[in-house]
Amino acid sequence: MDTEASILPSTTPRSRALATEAVHAGRDDLAALGLHAPPIDLSTTYPSYDSRGEAERIDAFATTGARLDGPPVYARLDNPTTARFETALARLEGTASAVSFASGMAALTAVLLARASMGLRHVVAVRPLYGCSDHLLGAGLLGTEVTWTDPAGIAGAIRPDTGLVMVETPANPTLAEVDIRALAHSCGSVPLLVDNTFATPVLQRPVEHGARLVLHSATKYLGGHGDVMGGVVACDEEFAARLRQVRFATGGVLHPMAGYLLLRGLSTLPVRVRAASTSAAELCRRLTADPRIARVHYPKVGGAMVSFEVYGDPHRVISAVRLITPAVSLGSVDTLIQHPASISHRIVDEGDRQAAGVGDRLLRMSVGLEDVEDLWADLCQALSDPPARTVAGTVPEWLPTGR
Ligand SMILES: *Cc1c(COP(=O)(O)O)cnc(C)c1O
Repeated sequence: MDTEASILPSTTPRSRALATEAVHAGRDDLAALGLHAPPIDLSTTYPSYDSRGEAERIDAFATTGARLDGPPVYARLDNPTTARFETALARLEGTASAVSFASGMAALTAVLLARASMGLRHVVAVRPLYGCSDHLLGAGLLGTEVTWTDPAGIAGAIRPDTGLVMVETPANPTLAEVDIRALAHSCGSVPLLVDNTFATPVLQRPVEHGARLVLHSATKYLGGHGDVMGGVVACDEEFAARLRQVRFATGGVLHPMAGYLLLRGLSTLPVRVRAASTSAAELCRRLTADPRIARVHYPKVGGAMVSFEVYGDPHRVISAVRLITPAVSLGSVDTLIQHPASISHRIVDEGDRQAAGVGDRLLRMSVGLEDVEDLWADLCQALSDPPARTVAGTVPEWLPTGR
C-alpha cells in the first residue's frame, strides 16, 4: 500500500497564468541559447568518452528513475525535445513532473504496468471510458483485473491489491462528469487517475482536486491539429520516476518530432479550447431546441465536445455532413463527428456499452474553429430529411448523396 504522504499531490504552485505558461513553459532557456524556436534533437544515441561516468548514470536511473543530468545515453531513456513538452504539460497541470509516451494507450499501459509490477493488479474503474481503455482493462491484456462500479461504489470495491482507481471526466463519449474531489476521498491511499483528455488543463486541473495521476491522449487537444500522436501522464516525481523506468524497459517513447509538435500545440491550447468551447456551447443550445434531437449532452465544465441523440438514423447524419468531417478522434482545429457505437466504442461489449449510456442513436461531435453559422448550416442539412432521389426502397437512405 502507498504511504499516506504519497497520496498528497505534490503540486508546483503556478506563479504565471495558464496562458503565459502555455507559450513559455519548456522554453525558458531558449533566449540564453540564442534560439527562438525550440531545437529538435533526433539523436538515437549520444557519444561519450567516459564509460565509467555513463555506468554511474545508468545505475542512478535504474535505482531512482530520476531524469539524467546531461545528455541521454540512448533515445529510449530520454530526449531533450520531448522533455520540453513534459516540462510544459506539468506546468499546465500543476504537477511536479510529466512523462510522455507514444500514444494515450501507451501512457495508460505504463501506469498499469507500474502498479502491477508492485503486485497491485486490481483496478477499480467507472464507465464510460474511452473504448480502448475499457477494452485494455476488461480484456486483462496486461494481467490486471478490473471491478467496474459507479462513483458511490468505489470505496467498497477497493481491495488490498487495488493499485489504481480510474475515471474519465467528462467521459468519452457521453460527457458524464464525476466529482473528482469526492471521488479522491473515496480512494483513500489508492492513486486516482483522471483521464483529462476532454477537459484539458484549460478547463480542469484534476490534481488540484485530489487526483494523483492525470492522463492525456495528447493526440487530441494538446496536439490540436490532427497530425501528431502521443500520450502523457502528469503526476508527482515519485510516480514519474517509476513511469520512466517502465517506459525505458517497454519502449513506448514519444518521438522527438511529436514532442516538438505537442509543445507547439500547447502554446495555442488555451485559445483553441476557449474558442471551440464557445461554438460548442452555442451548438448545444441550438441542438437542444431542435425537434429532430432527442437529447443533448454537454458537461458543466464546458469544452468543445457535444454529444447528442437523434430521433432519426444516426448513420444518415454521418453520411450527410459536408463541412464537418465524419471521423473518429477529436480535439483538432476542424470539426469531427462520429458514431461511438460503430467506431470509438465498438470494441466494448454491446451490453456494457448500452449500460454506460452509449446508445445506438448517440453521435459525438468535436467542435473545431470554423465559424459557428457554417457548422450549424452543415448540421441542419445533415439532420434534415434525405433528398428525394434517396427514396426508401430504391437506394438505401443512408448512402452518401454527394462525394
Ligand atoms: C483517444 C483517447 C485515448 C487514447 O489515446 P490514443 O492517443 O489514441 O492512444 C484515451 N482516452 C481518451 C479519453 C481518448 O479520447
